[in-house]
Amino acid sequence: MNQFEKITVDPFETSQFAERLATFLQPGDVIALEGDLGAGKTTFTKGLAKGLEIKKTVNSPTFTIIKEYKGTLPLYHMDVYRVADGFEDLGFDEYFEGDGVTVVEWAHLIEEQLPMELLTIYLYHEDLEKRKMVFVPKGNRYEQLCKEIFS
Ligand code: ADP
Ligand code: MG
Repeated sequence: MNQFEKITVDPFETSQFAERLATFLQPGDVIALEGDLGAGKTTFTKGLAKGLEIKKTVNSPTFTIIKEYKGTLPLYHMDVYRVADGFEDLGFDEYFEGDGVTVVEWAHLIEEQLPMELLTIYLYHEDLEKRKMVFVPKGNRYEQLCKEIFS
């Protein structure tokens, strides 16, 4: 399986990379973010939001599970860390199949409900301000997307 890596040396670089990625996104795209607390999932999402020209501040939606933002494309930002039961149907499908871009922090917790095709980004805490991002595309759309981003 193809995978792509990007090292960032500070939060700004992570944000900037996501901002650029955002310009390649299409309605219905789904991005899963995996990584420990503080790995940079929300920092990445904030950058993505900037790239989608979202003016509102994107915060971690830990207590609300899903937040929607208006931009060049709608952004559905999910943090499913507190979804008690991964099988609980909270209507995620409607977002995945909607007109926006969905970003899911801690996506593996709702593995059963994720779409077949998506882009998973694993964030690893390498050092104080150093992170490794590993992009794993599933499906043709996301393989093409990775090729575009990394070309
Ligand atoms: P998560 O959502 O994965 O819990 P956050 O994005 O909320 O993580 O927090 C990441 C923290 O790590 C922030 O305080 C951010 O400033 C810091 N940080 C340091 N270096 C980086 C980096 N290279 N990329 C992203 N965040 C970084
Ligand atoms: Mg977070």
